[in-house]
Amino acid sequence: MNSVPTPHHAPVTDAAVAALDAADPLAAFRARFALPDGVIYLDGNSLGALPRDTVDRLHHVLHHEWGEGLIRSWNSADWFHAPRRVGSKLARLIGAQPHEVVVADSTSVNLFKLIVAALRARPGRAKVLSEPGNFPTDLYMIESALRTLGDGHRLALVPREALASAIDDDTALVLLTHVHYKTAELWDMAAMTQAAHARGALILWDLSHSAGAVEVDLNGAGADLAVGCGYKFLNGGPGAPAYLYVAERHLGALETPLGGWMGHARPFDFVDGYEAGPGIVRFQCGTPPILAVAALEAGVDLHLAADMRAVVAKSRALAELFIDLVSAYGEAHGITLVGPPRGAPRGSHVSFRHPEAYAIVQALIARGVIGDFRAPDVMRFGLTPLYLRFADVAAASQHLAQVMAREEWRDERFRVRSAVT
Ligand SMILES: *Cc1c(COP(=O)(O)O)cnc(C)c1O
Repeated sequence: MNSVPTPHHAPVTDAAVAALDAADPLAAFRARFALPDGVIYLDGNSLGALPRDTVDRLHHVLHHEWGEGLIRSWNSADWFHAPRRVGSKLARLIGAQPHEVVVADSTSVNLFKLIVAALRARPGRAKVLSEPGNFPTDLYMIESALRTLGDGHRLALVPREALASAIDDDTALVLLTHVHYKTAELWDMAAMTQAAHARGALILWDLSHSAGAVEVDLNGAGADLAVGCGYKFLNGGPGAPAYLYVAERHLGALETPLGGWMGHARPFDFVDGYEAGPGIVRFQCGTPPILAVAALEAGVDLHLAADMRAVVAKSRALAELFIDLVSAYGEAHGITLVGPPRGAPRGSHVSFRHPEAYAIVQALIARGVIGDFRAPDVMRFGLTPLYLRFADVAAASQHLAQVMAREEWRDERFRVRSAVT
């Protein structure tokens, strides 16, 4: 009988893992994070770890800028321009020009602003295209935008394989998440942007799982719009402000539906009528959260100190090591890889499917290996190049092997569900 050989990789030795760490050009960055002892942190794609610099930065902002400077710090510490300053730094991580990015609001709110702006810029076109299983808030915000506009727009969810060919002359906007939050599938940004433009549609990219982990070149791809999250790979802290990108050619033409005073042309004229500010400024709405923007800036600065190409290469290498290690025993325990196979383009997390994924993740957390669970049956492991060692990934795989071999997940205490998974 013919058999198709399953991809098989030689067993990974401890020496091979040690060699990977010894050759890691980013190894020194780990010391710049305040990581707790006894924890292997594989959830930096959901809440990035705390950079040591952030502690000092916030101490300074609290004591000097707020405590002593008081309201004078809007000028003397340049709080007023902080969202644009941090946006212009972030631009370097996503292939944008400095004046095309601003830090503001949450990813959800930024989605709303840009979806409405885009639909108004494409009058006569009814369709917004996205994929089923996109991150929930992206789909909910499309629904909210459509309810707000209330004029015959509709949302079409088309599976990934068929999406490019579903773009037609009635499509106003294509909204895609560059790296899928569950599967780590990666869209070809340039190809999809071209496909949207070929039919006259705009495209909006959600970079929440991309910036700081995979290569992003918004300008190179010709992208129109983008949003992204500050608290994941960028290490901006829990609930960090998000960012948005508007391509230079659209600045000045697109209108935000939330025209607050911080996006006004002259906020300190205190006039009654709204007049949109120049460029990216208009996409700010209210007063920026200065403490949170300062924390995000420290996270972004840390990323700018790292060689992005090394970050992207290490992300791939960590993922491939983890896939190889888990593949050696996973199948025997009913664990299957979700998303791109080894070697294919991917994001910086690895997900596996198992009917008992929730309890397995809890059993791993009890061992100090922190990943997360995504309903209904996915365990997800974020592999952050700046603070994970190859040895951490190898140790995490050994813990998973033991949890499975000893059936630790059967323990009742691992079935109790908390509000946040
Ligand atoms: C994390 C994430 C968000 C988060 O949105 P918030 O408004 O910060 O809650 C949005 N979109 C995607 C794709 C995400 O992964």
